[in-house]
Order: sequence, then structure tokens, then C-alpha cells
Amino acid sequence: MSRILVAEDEERISSFVEKGLRAEGYSTTVAATGPDALAFAISGNYDLVLLDVGLPGIDGYEVLRRIRASDTQLAVIMLTARSSLADTIAGLDGGASDYMSKPFKFDELLARIRVRLRDAGQVGSTTIEHAGLVLDLRTRRLTAAGRTVDLSAREFSLAEEFLRHPDQVLSREQLLSRVWGVDFDPGSNVVDVYVRYLRAKLGSDRIETVRGAGYRLV
Ligand code: CA
Repeated sequence: MSRILVAEDEERISSFVEKGLRAEGYSTTVAATGPDALAFAISGNYDLVLLDVGLPGIDGYEVLRRIRASDTQLAVIMLTARSSLADTIAGLDGGASDYMSKPFKFDELLARIRVRLRDAGQVGSTTIEHAGLVLDLRTRRLTAAGRTVDLSAREFSLAEEFLRHPDQVLSREQLLSRVWGVDFDPGSNVVDVYVRYLRAKLGSDRIETVRGAGYRLV
């Protein structure tokens, strides 16, 4: 049974989410403050954390930063108000596994939880390869021509998206939706920024700009 920590100070939301998750067979714990959330999250007793950004004591960003200082693997889905979504995307340096903007549909939250738990639990050979790039979905490592490349969580997700669709043009909107989980333009250049990061690490000729259309892995 997967164990989920619900870090949320609004009782109306946490009880709704907890009830829904239990009905799906997950075991849950609710933490209503930042310090409690952090203590539970780093206890090693949870498979996934739903982390509200606006928490009393220590806010969600800081909780995430401290979780990542000791655990780089734990799946963390940030819950954020839609109005601060652009800040959330731009402000996090790839430490979160995913985002959900409030209000969210419970079914969508469940779907994302399933994906993140599946990613975390994958064993055996789970690699994607293309033209000398090898992405290991289990260890979350990328090697380019045999050399290990250090990627942040967000850079990894972006690389994964490109490797799953080699030689295809991916638009900014597609990348935003699939990598950042947002279905509207938050008015930031976050995709371009992260493509730049990836180019710096993989070689600038690996990702081509297709004017007016998006990007392509070559
Ligand atoms: Ca809150």
C-alpha cells in the first residue's frame, strides 16, 4: 500500500483529499503546518507528498528545499493557487516532481499520483535511448555518449519528453503541459530557459529551435 503525506493547512481540502485517497486504497497522514510536513516527509515513511505552497510555520517552497537536502528521490506534488502558478514554476529549481493548481479535479490528482508512484517504483531495465543519449527512468540518470550528465528533476522530465518523441517538433504549449502539467500559458519563458539548461548540458546542437513551432531533439 502506498503511503501519502498530505501537507495542507486548509482542513476542508485535506479532509476531502484524505477521504478520496483512502477510498482508493492509499494510506494517508495529514500535516497542517510546514514543520510537521517536513518532519513527516523526511521520516522515510512516505512514498509521495502532496505539498501545499501556503503552509504556516515554514512555507511549501522551503519545506521542499529542506526535503531535497536529504532526499532527492521522494515524489513531491506541489499544490498551488492558480494565481501564484507562474511564481511556482519559475521559483522552484526543479525540486518538485509535479504541480497541481487549486482548485483541482480529484481524478486528475489521482492520475498524477499514479504516474509519480509508478515512476518511483519502477524496477529492471527502464531506459529510453536515442542517438547516444540514454535515459534511465529508474535511477533518473542521463548518459550522453557514455558520460553521465547531472540533471535537475525538471531537466530530467524535459529530456524524457524529448527522448520519447525524437525528431518531432514539440511546441512550448505541449512541453508546458507534459513537463510542467499546466494547460495554459503562465506568461513565463520557463520552457526556453530549461531548453537552454539542457543544451548547455547535452550540447547546443542536440535540441533544435524550429522557428514559430517549438523545439526538436535531433
Ligand atoms: Ca494553504
